[in-house]
Amino acid sequence: MPTTLVTGGAGFIGSNLVRMLLAERPERRVLTLDALTYAGHRSTLAEVLDHPRHTLVVGDVADPAAVGPLLADPEVDEVLHLAAESHVDRSITQPAVFVRTNVLGTQVLLDAAREHGVRRLVHVSTDEVYGHLGDDDPPFTEDSPLAPRSPYAASKAAADHLVAAAWTTHGLPVILTRCCNNLGPWQYPEKLVPVMVAAALDGRLLPIFGTGRNVRDWISVADHCRGLMAVLERGEPGRTYHIGARAERTNLEVIDGICAALGLPDAPRAFVEDRPGHDRRYALDTTRIEAELGWRARDRFEDALAETVRWYVDHQDWWRPLLGER
Ligand code: NAD
Repeated sequence: MPTTLVTGGAGFIGSNLVRMLLAERPERRVLTLDALTYAGHRSTLAEVLDHPRHTLVVGDVADPAAVGPLLADPEVDEVLHLAAESHVDRSITQPAVFVRTNVLGTQVLLDAAREHGVRRLVHVSTDEVYGHLGDDDPPFTEDSPLAPRSPYAASKAAADHLVAAAWTTHGLPVILTRCCNNLGPWQYPEKLVPVMVAAALDGRLLPIFGTGRNVRDWISVADHCRGLMAVLERGEPGRTYHIGARAERTNLEVIDGICAALGLPDAPRAFVEDRPGHDRRYALDTTRIEAELGWRARDRFEDALAETVRWYVDHQDWWRPLLGER
């Protein structure tokens, strides 16, 4: 049976994507490769661990001995590459881990794909590679220069260049996507939404970096996954597509929305020392994917946020044990 390899499939976006692929493409198998780092857990895939068309392989994307045999299987003809170190704050204290996984891991995957051949390889990247915008600047387009400002963004930008080079140099059928901030179920509780839900539920001060006026475009993880499937199925090799929702919100607006959804509008907040080099604003122009592939974000930000908050309230058995690991 034709098979799609998903790297990083036990993480936040990857696990949502694996479930969607299994549900919507009954003619294909899904192979998940994940190292199960602190951010990856079997529990995120619990619903599909025994699925007859799904296999989880525990392995390191930066290890050619782990990746090569998977791509050597002639049935594996598509790759969605999500495995990465993804938390900006960790990249500030441990940049080398980010270079190994995000840069070397991507090259190892590209080498194996070239050796064994694939029909499509989609590399999942981020708006953070462009650096940041002023309040009145137009959104980034796919042709904006890369100007990363954190070690995380720099490692993703380096990987993006290697992916683009694999197309130019070897004609490897790669497609690049860059998405904005995701929200939804199964996100490790170190990121903004679950951190704030946990603090508010426990009556702790909600920690807000700097002034809280940093702006991000927010997309539901389901919309991101639908965008990735559109790119996988209909995107043009060698091309880059933005996946965004035109839902720019300040961190303060997101936090207010979380507190309102919890019924705790006056939950106490504390402004804490800002992240060094904290990017001011990101925004993506999504004209290309909308015009060429007919994809558009469907979920309203307010609905997605309320649903996500409800999910964290209902799934404390999943994220509470992880708080102690951080
Ligand atoms: P995540 O941290 O939740 O998941 C990453 C997964 O990769 C984990 O399951 C982890 O175990 C796995 N992993 C890490 N190192 C590995 C290695 N060496 N080998 C194999 N697996 C490894 O991250 P996420 O938020 O789901 O992000 C997934 C991808 O999407 C990343 O490439 C990220 O850069 C990109 N992205 C994320 C967002 C966002 O808002 N979360 C936005 C845009 C792009």
